[in-house]
Amino acid sequence: MIIDTHVHLENFSTKDVSLAERLTNLKRVMKQAQVDKAIILCCVDAVNRKAVQMDDILELVKNEKNIFVVGTLSINYTPAQLGYVKELLQQKRIIGIKFYPGYEAFYPNDNRLDAAYALCEAYDVPAVFHSGETYGRGVGIKYSMPIHIDDLAIRRPNLKIVIAHLGNPWLDEVMVILNRHTNVYADISALVWRGFDSCWKPYYSDAIVRLIKWNDGQKHKLLFATDWPCHNDAVYYTFMKEYVRFVKQLRISKEDKELMLYKNAQKVFRT
Ligand SMILES: [Zn+2]
Repeated sequence: MIIDTHVHLENFSTKDVSLAERLTNLKRVMKQAQVDKAIILCCVDAVNRKAVQMDDILELVKNEKNIFVVGTLSINYTPAQLGYVKELLQQKRIIGIKFYPGYEAFYPNDNRLDAAYALCEAYDVPAVFHSGETYGRGVGIKYSMPIHIDDLAIRRPNLKIVIAHLGNPWLDEVMVILNRHTNVYADISALVWRGFDSCWKPYYSDAIVRLIKWNDGQKHKLLFATDWPCHNDAVYYTFMKEYVRFVKQLRISKEDKELMLYKNAQKVFRT
């Protein structure tokens, strides 16, 4: 079993590909990569002017058994938007909420998000944070540095938190935070954009092995994730497959691989 906990349906291709075709392509690459389930993350408009609206994604995947959706809320959400997200959680149409510090100027411990975090706790779904480098200049890299997750994890020990992209390039910050908090997980998406070449493959392999070792015999909390389709036409059909291959070659135990490929995802997202 493999679960990709972080994919998108935005069109980053130079070609004009319809939303329905993108879903078809997602299912195709999942099959090629032997990925059984995928979780689509919604974007706020601040991240991408091509952001697909949450309703369009939900409508598109409503009959898909193995594709799930994590909704999103802007820091400037209205009470009506919060109410709508609550409804979607109640109906199990979304299985988490994603936030985008680094694209919108706020830190994860911002009080304005307390009501949203309370919803995540009430419905036992994770708050997912874009973390690490941002696409384009954004509003300040300080907002998406993973160190700020620590404060939120202290304040809300019952909130399940997912740090996206391993906080890349601040991998050591994530290593420490994962070890400090039982409620914090991290996904390994978008470590590379163009595939694992001879520079990045050993670099990230070593980093992940170190991160697992840092846990000192405890179970690690890493999640398999790609960020498919990333941005590059050239890797559109191969990216997910290559990511699976990357995880399989890691020098970690079979148990650690299973945790990363699906067991941790089942626990966090209850898929
Ligand atoms: Zn993403």
